[in-house]
Amino acid sequence: MTDFTMTIDGNPVSATGTFDVINPSTGGSAGQCPSGAAEDVNAAIAAAKAAFASWRWESDHTRSQACRDMARVLGEHAEELAVLLSTEQGKPLGGLGARFELGGCQAWASNTADLELPVEVVKDDNEGRIEIHRKPLGVVASITPWNWPLMIAIWHIAPAIRAGNTVVVKPSPYTPLSTLRMVEILNTVLPAGVLNVVTGPDSIGPVLTSHPDIAKVTFTGSTETGKKVMASATNTLKRLTLELGGNDAAIVLPDVEPAAVAEGIFWGAFINSGQTCACMKRLYVHDDIYDDVCSALVEFAAKIPVGDGLDEDSVLGPVQNAMQFAKVRDLVNDAKASGARVLLGGEVPEGNGYFYPLTIVADATDGMRLVDEEQFGPVLPVIRYTDIEDAVTRANASSMGLGGSVWSKDMDAAKKLALQFESGTVWINGHGGLNPNAPFGGVKQSGIGTEFGVDGLKEFTAIQTLHA
Ligand code: NAD
Repeated sequence: MTDFTMTIDGNPVSATGTFDVINPSTGGSAGQCPSGAAEDVNAAIAAAKAAFASWRWESDHTRSQACRDMARVLGEHAEELAVLLSTEQGKPLGGLGARFELGGCQAWASNTADLELPVEVVKDDNEGRIEIHRKPLGVVASITPWNWPLMIAIWHIAPAIRAGNTVVVKPSPYTPLSTLRMVEILNTVLPAGVLNVVTGPDSIGPVLTSHPDIAKVTFTGSTETGKKVMASATNTLKRLTLELGGNDAAIVLPDVEPAAVAEGIFWGAFINSGQTCACMKRLYVHDDIYDDVCSALVEFAAKIPVGDGLDEDSVLGPVQNAMQFAKVRDLVNDAKASGARVLLGGEVPEGNGYFYPLTIVADATDGMRLVDEEQFGPVLPVIRYTDIEDAVTRANASSMGLGGSVWSKDMDAAKKLALQFESGTVWINGHGGLNPNAPFGGVKQSGIGTEFGVDGLKEFTAIQTLHA
């Protein structure tokens, strides 16, 4: 088995101990991860701080080229990384799985290379000239979750480095191995100290987020942890980007043809086995077509092969970890006990791994935990509505506000409704699609700040205004 090491100042670093990373498809070991401690975090921050002294003054061309080089080496090692990702995360190699995630990493890195933050001139006349410059912040802490570990790490790393910052990444202890290897690979094209990675238990997170030499924390994970990150970052007023949980609603209008929308709705909800921040987690369907939409969804979902991520025939994989598995199971059981009807799935199969079946729950209602809470698993509650305005009110009755969608043949009506959603993103006849130039972020308790494109890049800079 490969020895995994942290990367600090361009060097491989082991920890005194290791912990076992579980392969969720089998319940066996995916590898041993270094169990770093506070001194490793401090060493990584010191290395990043030292590297910042020169990286911040590198030319725009050099920083852009670094992103392009990162995209290139990610491409060269894509298959190796995809296999590792699949082994520890559980997602299949094919389809919208591990290879797709590696493709996303390359796309975001190369797109970030092309982003520009030119000096803006707000005044230039006889009285003088005023210029707005964008300066890097310093050392950025990147904290990532276990659902899309590599893509989310690249969403943090590429703009941070492009803007002239240096980075310390801390992946989730559930999926650290692919990030360790990815950072090792990226270090072949970056100066020492520009990109570092530390691994260990959750308890090393606060060491990073409270450290005085961290200028910014970019965090993707649960709302609960996001609040802790925000609290611990107050001591030195760190900049924050928080991409947190979601409980995205979709509203299906009565004019759709159920069979025509079933595939899109399915993937909007079940991509990555539902373990995606901005995937559909509540489906509101008009009474006129309710039964037909449920039947079409069940018919489509029943044909999807679920299995070991490394099996090329698998289209979806297991739930990533035991805690999440228990949460999904409990939410479905609670919905059943509250009178919901399980149309597909809902029973845990025999065997190894954290396999929860694709599950569609009809007669779900607001107030059931499965509807009100983020399930983050392969389960979709379908809720009946009769009045469209009422459906929007119910969709918005959440403390979360990440994404949402409207499904209809009438684009004008759909757009009017979509703009009533209280969410950072809203889709029409789709759900969850992202683009590296389209700003992405949450409102309400789904987060603070924006990722992607020029708006996302700006979040890794501070303005310096020059009056001349
Ligand atoms: P989590 O909050 O449990 O963990 C996220 C990261 O935070 C991990 O690296 C973890 O080790 C670290 N961490 C834990 N405690 C910490 C602390 N006190 N200080 C600093 N870091 C700490 O989230 P998760 O279970 O890994 O991910 C699932 C959640 O992430 C879901 O709620 C999902 O919606 C959300 N998510 C959001 C987005 C988005 O872009 N909005 C994307 C992916 C996932």
